[in-house]
Amino acid sequence: MDDRLISGLVLAVRGGFYRVLAADEQLECRLRGKLKRKGALADIAGGVSVGDWVQISRNRQESGEMAGMVENVLPRSNLLPRPRIANVELCIAELAAREPLYDLLLLDKILLTAAYYHIGSAVCFNKEDLANDDLPNLAEAYAKAGFTVLLTSALHGQGLDSLRQLLENKVSVLAGPSGVGKSSLLNVLVPEYQAAVGDISSRLQRGKHTTRHVSLLPLPGGGLVADTPGFSLLELPPELKAKDLPHLYPEYAAPAAACRFLGCLHRHEPGCAVKEQVASGILDSGRYERYLRLLGDLEAGAR
Ligand code: GDP
Ligand code: ZN
Repeated sequence: MDDRLISGLVLAVRGGFYRVLAADEQLECRLRGKLKRKGALADIAGGVSVGDWVQISRNRQESGEMAGMVENVLPRSNLLPRPRIANVELCIAELAAREPLYDLLLLDKILLTAAYYHIGSAVCFNKEDLANDDLPNLAEAYAKAGFTVLLTSALHGQGLDSLRQLLENKVSVLAGPSGVGKSSLLNVLVPEYQAAVGDISSRLQRGKHTTRHVSLLPLPGGGLVADTPGFSLLELPPELKAKDLPHLYPEYAAPAAACRFLGCLHRHEPGCAVKEQVASGILDSGRYERYLRLLGDLEAGAR
């Protein structure tokens, strides 16, 4: 028995067991009784979650395997609801260059929803091998808006080194519609993925059930990626208000400071610097039009 506390990250939660990554080791842990008491984790909404940083004590099982006890849970920086993962640092908005053709309204929803949950984001167009000539312009538009943009092909390998670099040393989740190549990318990036998700038929089965257990998988280059897509990032958060929308567009922050009215929604207001920058081509007009549409939807209570 070694009662020094060590820090670790919860990779999976199943039936009262918490798989914790501490240094390079994975330990099956249980919760110390005091943490189970009512109110003990009042500041950790919903109890200990995948992605939580915890402090554990280790003990050696009779079998010789290392196990541990979760003694403390550290405060979180954010919590993604579906699947439940704490402390996600990066959401990769995953689309396909074709088949299915990218949906830019969905892309913008993913990006602003990630911002809403305080998660950084990047854009990845997969199936680059199928791309039309318009893809570089599109990539450029999002890069100008301040996003890291990757073009990848899970099939032929383009862009995978950049994707590996982007995923290094952080906790990431992929979000995007079905069929864009998320599983294919995880397959080539994460050695554990095959083993973790099993064969394709069971994967398809599970894809239908958005509540299935999520795990974080360690990446060879350091960092962790969720084995389940971030479904909640595909829909606008239920609590999101129209007046908050402008703040979820990073490229509107600087011009917004020059808008005549505080709380400018960048729509009909006179002296709106965002509108001026759209008119002069500094800001992307397509993304701005989609912004107006989402703003209208939010005001109408539609999502
Ligand atoms: P998911 O639903 O996002 O997990 O998508 P999958 O990984 O299941 O991929 C859907 C289909 O697209 C499969 O038939 C893959 O073989 C194919 N696919 C995935 N990545 C690529 C790619 O980069 N290029 C091409 N041409 N096909 C791909
Ligand atoms: Zn404005």
